Amino acid sequence: MKENGATTAKRRENGMPASSLPKENSLFRQWTGPLSTDLTLHPGDFGLGKVPARLRPDATTRSVCGFCSTGCSLDVHLQSGQAVNLTPTVDYPVNLGMACPKGWEALTCLSAPDRATTPLLRNPQTGKLEPTDWDEAMQVFTLKFKALMDQHGPESVAFLSTGQICTEEMAFAGALWKFGMGALHCDSNTRQCMATSHVAYKQSFGFDAPPYTYADFEESDCLVFVGSNLCIAHPIMWQRVLRNKKNPEIIVIDPRNTETAMNATQHLALRPKSDLTLLYGIANLLVQNGWVDCGFIRRSTTGFDAFADFVRQFTPDKVAADTGLTVGQLYRFAETIHTRKAVSFWWTMGVNQSHESTRTAQAIINLALMTGNIGRPGTGANSITGQCNAMGSRLFANATSLLGGRDFLNPEHREHTAKILRIEPSYIPAKNSLAYDQIIQGIADGKIKGLWVIATNSIHSWIDSAKLDSVFDRLEFLVVQDMFKTTDTARRAHLILPAAGWGEKEGTFINSERRFGHVKKVSRAPGQALSDFNIFRLIAEYWGCADLFTQWTSPQAAFQIIKKLSAGQPCDITGIEDYRHLDAEGGIQWPFPPSMNDETETEDSSSRERRLFSDGKFFLPDGKAHFYFDAPRPVSEPTDKDFPFVLLTGRGTSAQWHTNTRTAKSAVLRTLYPAEPYVEIHPNDATRLCLEPNSRVAIISRRARIEITAIVTPTTQPGAVFIPMHYNVTNQLTKAEFDPHSRQPSYKYCAVRLEAVRT
Ligand code: SF4
Repeated sequence: MKENGATTAKRRENGMPASSLPKENSLFRQWTGPLSTDLTLHPGDFGLGKVPARLRPDATTRSVCGFCSTGCSLDVHLQSGQAVNLTPTVDYPVNLGMACPKGWEALTCLSAPDRATTPLLRNPQTGKLEPTDWDEAMQVFTLKFKALMDQHGPESVAFLSTGQICTEEMAFAGALWKFGMGALHCDSNTRQCMATSHVAYKQSFGFDAPPYTYADFEESDCLVFVGSNLCIAHPIMWQRVLRNKKNPEIIVIDPRNTETAMNATQHLALRPKSDLTLLYGIANLLVQNGWVDCGFIRRSTTGFDAFADFVRQFTPDKVAADTGLTVGQLYRFAETIHTRKAVSFWWTMGVNQSHESTRTAQAIINLALMTGNIGRPGTGANSITGQCNAMGSRLFANATSLLGGRDFLNPEHREHTAKILRIEPSYIPAKNSLAYDQIIQGIADGKIKGLWVIATNSIHSWIDSAKLDSVFDRLEFLVVQDMFKTTDTARRAHLILPAAGWGEKEGTFINSERRFGHVKKVSRAPGQALSDFNIFRLIAEYWGCADLFTQWTSPQAAFQIIKKLSAGQPCDITGIEDYRHLDAEGGIQWPFPPSMNDETETEDSSSRERRLFSDGKFFLPDGKAHFYFDAPRPVSEPTDKDFPFVLLTGRGTSAQWHTNTRTAKSAVLRTLYPAEPYVEIHPNDATRLCLEPNSRVAIISRRARIEITAIVTPTTQPGAVFIPMHYNVTNQLTKAEFDPHSRQPSYKYCAVRLEAVRT
């Protein structure tokens, strides 16, 4: 970090003295920005004659939903430019007129009483958070972070961001932090959901490139879901499956009898964390029976022979013994893949949140490659994203990868990026940031002393969260930038920066199928809350590095910078003109180089729904995909006589989103899920433990003990229990274990015991 320290010092020489700091009125007022003026529809277009006059809209605009990665479009109905209601967009290629409960209720949380409406600063005397103004907040922010960096070096501070803010904001935050403020360590909650897919694709294909389009849900004649409860986690994608007219085989690989498994034609209810063994066993059956696509393997892949040799050891008998499945089930699965013409493989967190997640994801990719099920309609090795903009975070957050999916360690990439941003190449660190878990460890070790948390709720969502409270005690300065002042993490902050939420700012999200969608400002943020983009502008001014960011004047301007950063990369979007172009096309999938404009003029659906690799060419230097594999490893905390149950965690209902920060604000959504945390227990186990349905039960791991309600149901296997992730007690139990390649936490397996609570 010698180079960075020097550049930091140089920039600080140019820093403004406190007396010359701009006053908040002159800065932030002009940045609250106008409401969207792009009003594309009128009341007559959607027949709202029965709506009470006070709610009757006078215009409508469109915006992409800010919860999950599906990226549904919502028609937001406005009165005097302010959102009053919404309905799903009918002619958007993603959701085709549908929305899940979260989407319908997306506006509700904006008027919640616990919004942060002014900066809040903790009073050291009283220990309480007290309102302040932006001027004092910015002075404290800059002086504290600068003091820590001066005293302990640029690696003594870090930020943790999110996949929930706009691409333009992510890019600005990452550039500001690393190039403007001279800091290094930053990561985001994308580490918790998509780091595995990022690494798996990057290694296997040469770039983080989910290959599919949602039309593939309808065009497959066999869909294989691995660790994915699509019915409730991505309900609109599931609706696309239900539109499939090919009478598809639906194969679900999941230890739980989830809503999706209940709708499967084959449910492989394997033992928890035996998925890698199963996938290698299926690969072996395909090889042994000659059910592989030799032409595709020869033309488009490398490493197959070594892989085929490796999987030979995964005989049907061994795989059946390890997974708890029958040999017959294994043969039926393999034969189905062979006989169907268009097989698509889909995975989500059951794979990504595992101790050997990257190799498991690549075992899925390998099945698609060896059977030639990629690049054709209805096929693909398809990772489904979690958050609305986790894909934006993977490509443009400047955290793990340099902006645009480039490499911090590559001098040519640094040079190229510096030229586009009109900054000195030496401002770009030639070193990678620590990952999320390493940042947390750095805090625990006393090396990281200042933390800035943006739009995420680490104390609830991070693994082994019982420990996090005491880890955060070690921080000398914690800043939380959020819509709400009441999150578990915000309550710990020394300084809260009030942020606008979805619907109160403009930008873009990139959905699961690589589609850029336009997010619009349809409501004013309350009080003094600012968009994240404008908070970053304010910080640049107060830090004294605004001269590096003169191009970053607005989200629209930042989008033009992002376009330039994408040029020549697989995610090239230089053919997209601006936000209006996105609106006109119903969102646009990357890549979209200028030549694509000619194709979209034909107006056929193929130009609106595009998949990758139809030419059999991948992004590795030789143009081929590569087979990666490793021997399965045991989990670090197997069950034993003291902790005989496996704890599984995951999504509870389609009405809840992550830490429930926003979804709990809706009275409608609250009726759709249990208010109190609960655990699902198999009836055999409940009987053995004398647990009555709906009684209180203690769940005890080596890290914590919680008491919750017992729901007795055969959705879990005997010996396994399930607790939804949305309750803040859940992660007190989980064990901090990580995949070695992606450093993604393994939320899906730890050992617990159960005790009835007698009242
Ligand atoms: S499926 Fe996802 S994107 Fe669509 S409405 Fe629901 S939360 Fe929003």
